[in-house]
Amino acid sequence: MQTTITEQSRELPISGDYDVVVAGGGIAGVAAALAAARAGASVCLLEKACALGGLATIGNIIVYLPLCDGLGHQVSGGICEELLKLSVSDITEPLPNLHIKPIPEAWQKGGNLEERRNVRYRANYNPITFSYKLERLLLKNKVKIFFDSRFCTVIKEQNRIVAVVIENQDGRTALRCQAVVDASGSADVCYQAGEKTVSLSSNVLCGWFYYVENGEVRLCTMTKSLDMNGRRNPAAGRNYRGDRSSEVNDFLLNSRKMMMDTMAQRSQENNSQIYPILAPQMPSFRMIRRLAGRHTLRESDDRRWFEDTLGMTGDWRLSGPVYCLPLSILAGVRNHNLITAGRCISSAGRAWDVTRVIPTCAVSGEAAGAAAAFLALDKLPSFQDLDCRSLQTYLRRRRVIIDRKRLQNI
Ligand SMILES: Cc1cc2nc3c(=O)[nH]c(=O)nc-3n(C[C@H](O)[C@H](O)[C@H](O)COP(=O)(O)OP(=O)(O)OC[C@H]3O[C@@H](n4cnc5c(N)ncnc54)[C@H](O)[C@@H]3O)c2cc1C
Repeated sequence: MQTTITEQSRELPISGDYDVVVAGGGIAGVAAALAAARAGASVCLLEKACALGGLATIGNIIVYLPLCDGLGHQVSGGICEELLKLSVSDITEPLPNLHIKPIPEAWQKGGNLEERRNVRYRANYNPITFSYKLERLLLKNKVKIFFDSRFCTVIKEQNRIVAVVIENQDGRTALRCQAVVDASGSADVCYQAGEKTVSLSSNVLCGWFYYVENGEVRLCTMTKSLDMNGRRNPAAGRNYRGDRSSEVNDFLLNSRKMMMDTMAQRSQENNSQIYPILAPQMPSFRMIRRLAGRHTLRESDDRRWFEDTLGMTGDWRLSGPVYCLPLSILAGVRNHNLITAGRCISSAGRAWDVTRVIPTCAVSGEAAGAAAAFLALDKLPSFQDLDCRSLQTYLRRRRVIIDRKRLQNI
């Protein structure tokens, strides 16, 4: 049987020309687009779904994990902190059924180190209002948003991406660009542009969903690896990988079945009336595919300083660790004007578990977006030619924390 077919070559209309194109409108993509626009670049953001925020909004993951090291020191600032505050700007009190929590008092103005050691700098928000606020913020900063638009592939000249090909209601068109930020969550641009990538196949069924039980709205944070009491579930079933269409389909079908079965079981056990009101609108994979960069961040890089550090993050799971996010884990290797942000940057093992979460995606997003704007506006041949010191000075002025002293265990 014939296994391939030749696609006819065709001329593509050019639907835009931007300094920076950001592929993916999750937290990383929003932070990247915002940072690039504020640095003076013309920016276009592509999102295949119809709202901004990615897993953090349309995936119903509403926990903005900490910006601190767990020892009372803030280690992430800039857009990461701005988005945390924005996420709960409409929250006045905790709503336990919805897991909504404002920023702790200790982290408001006037909080002291002693109080901050006992509570981490984080908050839980409403995904629908947060998504809406993100789009208003990008519009205010003159980012051109293309919803319902899928990044398909790149057009290259030597080691540079000169255009990205997209598909939407206008058909297949090309966007010319000086720099590209891959914030797809699955390293789609890296993969298409011929970067070396690494995929994970350890995803377990999950999906956070809202439901009504006896007239009360609640959020269920469902993970099949845990049972209803939060213990490891021996019936967790197989693992999935998110870089294959068949696996994505199986994952979606089985996650939704799990959601419905769980509600039926709970309804029977509690003798209550339950029905779902908001399921995740994208697959809830934790890790899909990432860049294999010049450097790959690892757990052993805890408290290691890099001269090209563009942001910092704590560890949401533990008190103490602090990681620097250097340019060498963000920038493409084979494509001189490609940079990554969010959960597809070059980090591995337990470090990937640290860099994939919402605050850290915002930190890498801001770093990647600002770097992309610098590259485009200064017409640099490659991210290797960036003057990291001036970029660091610029980012510090924007309240990004790049501070060697924060690596000391005080
Ligand atoms: C079950 C679960 C629980 C979690 N719990 C937490 C938690 O409590 N706290 C926390 O901080 N983090 C948590 N995380 C992790 C966190 O939510 C995500 O890793 C983070 O939000 C990823 O942000 P991102 O912008 O890198 O990627 P994404 O959110 O995946 O955004 C990528 C965006 O790109 C779009 N896109 C993808 N491909 C294309 C394409 N080809 N063209 C156009 N658009 C495209 C997608 O639609 C999406 O909007 C959890 C994750 C899961 C799965």
